[in-house]
Amino acid sequence: MTTEDYLNTLNAAQLRAVMHSPDIPLQILAGPGSGKTKVLTCRIAHLISKHSISPQSICAVTFTNKAANEMRERLTKLIGIEQTNQIKLGTFHAICSMFLRKYAKLVGLDSNFTICDADESKNIIKKLLKTYRDELEAHNIVLAEATVISRISKAKAKGVTSDGLRRREKKGISRGEGRTADGSLIEQSFASIIDDVVAEIHVDYAAILRRNNSLDFDDLVLFGKQLFAEHPTVSRWCRHILVDEFQDTNTTQYELMRHIAATSRCVTIVGDPDQSIYGWRSAEVENLARMKRDLPNTQQLFLEQNYRSTASIISCSLAIVSQDKSRTPKTLHTTHPTGPTPVLRSLPYEQNESAFLASEIKRLVAYSGGMLSWGDFVILLRYNSLSRSIESALQKEGIPNRVLNGHKFFERLEVKDILAYLQLLDNPLYVPAFMRAINVPSRGIGEKSVSELLATAQRLGLSPIEVVEKIFDNTIPDIKPAVKRKLTSFVPHIRRSRTSMQKRTRPSDLIRDLLQLLNYEGYLMKTQPDWESRWDNVQELINFASQVEMGTPMLFDSDQPEDDPSEGEEWNSLAEFDQDQLEDDGIVEAQRPRQAKGKEKQTEERYERHILVSASADCSAIRDTPLRLFLQASMLSTGTEVQGNENDTEKVTISTCHAAKGLEWPIVMIPAVEKGTFPSARAEDVHEERRLLYVACTRAKALLYLTHSTARMMSGEVRPKELSEFVITALQNSQTVFTDQIPCLSASDREVLAQVLNRSSPSDAEVARKIAEYNRTTTNPWDGSAVPSSTPWFSSTYNKSAVSSSVEGSCNF
Ligand code: ATP
Ligand code: MG
Repeated sequence: MTTEDYLNTLNAAQLRAVMHSPDIPLQILAGPGSGKTKVLTCRIAHLISKHSISPQSICAVTFTNKAANEMRERLTKLIGIEQTNQIKLGTFHAICSMFLRKYAKLVGLDSNFTICDADESKNIIKKLLKTYRDELEAHNIVLAEATVISRISKAKAKGVTSDGLRRREKKGISRGEGRTADGSLIEQSFASIIDDVVAEIHVDYAAILRRNNSLDFDDLVLFGKQLFAEHPTVSRWCRHILVDEFQDTNTTQYELMRHIAATSRCVTIVGDPDQSIYGWRSAEVENLARMKRDLPNTQQLFLEQNYRSTASIISCSLAIVSQDKSRTPKTLHTTHPTGPTPVLRSLPYEQNESAFLASEIKRLVAYSGGMLSWGDFVILLRYNSLSRSIESALQKEGIPNRVLNGHKFFERLEVKDILAYLQLLDNPLYVPAFMRAINVPSRGIGEKSVSELLATAQRLGLSPIEVVEKIFDNTIPDIKPAVKRKLTSFVPHIRRSRTSMQKRTRPSDLIRDLLQLLNYEGYLMKTQPDWESRWDNVQELINFASQVEMGTPMLFDSDQPEDDPSEGEEWNSLAEFDQDQLEDDGIVEAQRPRQAKGKEKQTEERYERHILVSASADCSAIRDTPLRLFLQASMLSTGTEVQGNENDTEKVTISTCHAAKGLEWPIVMIPAVEKGTFPSARAEDVHEERRLLYVACTRAKALLYLTHSTARMMSGEVRPKELSEFVITALQNSQTVFTDQIPCLSASDREVLAQVLNRSSPSDAEVARKIAEYNRTTTNPWDGSAVPSSTPWFSSTYNKSAVSSSVEGSCNF
């Protein structure tokens, strides 16, 4: 595509945003479907083709891997695969991970660090929490591990590191502070006890991760921020940073962005405060104002035309979001036709609700004359747990479906088994991988023996693998003969896979060798009843490895950016430094960066240069480690990439509303729009819940369904459920934003669909044929008769008491 071609696809406001000067920081603020992501993509293309900015020095941040893949696809169409692959494109986590591999030493890490997944973090924290159990019990305090995890994560999102906590005096929790005169605890002290325990666990948890040479997801961003903050020279890799979904960045991510942009000050962000839905994970919409303060010449542009949805979907969505009176009103208009009114349906019970949605999907596919297919539908849930009855209803109807971000591929037992061996080969210090691999296949080495092995490793300053190898080789005595015997199959496995790793460069081959070595299929057969599907997953892992081998963009392809500090006259090589002087300055031996307090500035600069040069030199090896690239891709993947084969486009998607952010589908169905679910009973911020429903509704292009069960099974009991107050208020303000009538998909409806979806209308004969076939083969699964056309409570004169009586009536069964 030429420059003119893509510029021609933009409206005037979008064009202004794309052509805005690269040097002036820009905020593009606009509602859903107004082309923010499209503008961001075109702006990247424009920076490269018009302003000759090297693709390597562009850093584009998306919120999810899926969004990154979509942007990569769109960019490939605009500028070709070669240039696209040079752009540093991915989530904050992926981008930090890339830089940290390259410059690990600068922040005191080893470049072969392992990314610790949520499960493993949880295990570590669970164990640490146990050590406080007695003390907490003594104070009658129940502290859930989920609370500890969330508080540590929130601290990191705010930029609090364990170093910061360590500096605080460790007070211990039985010190008797905060007691009343008679010695009983006052309420405040509960909070302070919990604070202290969490802080101490945080410190210990960080120490364990460091010992394992691993980082969790929050650490990736924290260390990334530290890297750019302490070594501004690294930011010369980035001439321009662009961030999508900026309203959902947290403090650490914002700070990271600010430091990346420190050298160039070229920043473009797009966002929509109405779609800020990650406050519960410490996102701060105030970052928009913060950016304007930090970069005072920031300009704002607004987009007002929605290209995604029909006018009736936009009205309905606005009727929901505009209930928040503190929100800044925005204009959002469309040239699309009005289209069918969004459907609001109440059904007696969740099974009826799921069956209704499944049968409606089937009917719409038929009545559209084939214009719609399974892949056009998404069912958006407030919680993943709501998917069970939906999945079974779709299955009953024979409708293929996939759960986006559902059972995570990389969390499966068989996948984790194989990854553990690979992680251990790459990073022998990584204890979670050691603990897993040592008993795969089962060797009967008990928890106690493993703990002893780990303690020995710590005592001798060796990796656990070195310890078992030494025991095996008889260079460490004092191990029980039984344990030693059990190690006889483990050590040779490790050694042979290490040899295989030295010979094989492709992770897919390495996995094949490993499977053979472990006789993994036989092990699954013996131990897992569903071994066949597990074996399929292992094969899928090999496919994923092959994909990574073929497609991983080399993000540091050229050794240096145009003005990399480690290149050119000034930065040529270490030869320019006097080696003795470097040693005198303590530079050559230095492993960790440190503040050169009190040192000559010149020395500080030389130190920095040295580290940068040596880190870059190391990087040539890192770049060529396909195993590491594969492990990184696995750990940062949400799993959908793995199972995201072509067939998935022909499946109904089930997703949480959160995971659907930034995406779009022709037909969106949102079940369980009920009090306690929307807003969630657990939510702290009701406005954020409303915005979440708004985000969900605005994913729809052509048809939108909201449904509600008047009773639902909860904690083993059938409980009455009321319609969400968000919908009740929308109806009270304007009854016409919803209808209880399902769209009949008349010829005029089909015309609208064709126009909005940019598809051709089927012929009347084709429609008639599909409908006849549907009628012949389908009976409505939930009542054995025709699809219901209306429910009693929703009448043209909406009245709230009708809803309540219907709710009460529904409790009888
Ligand atoms: P969200 O806030 O949901 O992330 P967005 O503002 O990022 O939405 P995009 O996803 O970029 O919106 O665009 C929404 C849809 O509108 C896409 O299908 C996109 O291709 C289309 N679109 C955007 N701008 C135009 C245009 N000028 N002409 C035609 N289609 C457009
Ligand atoms: Mg977008």
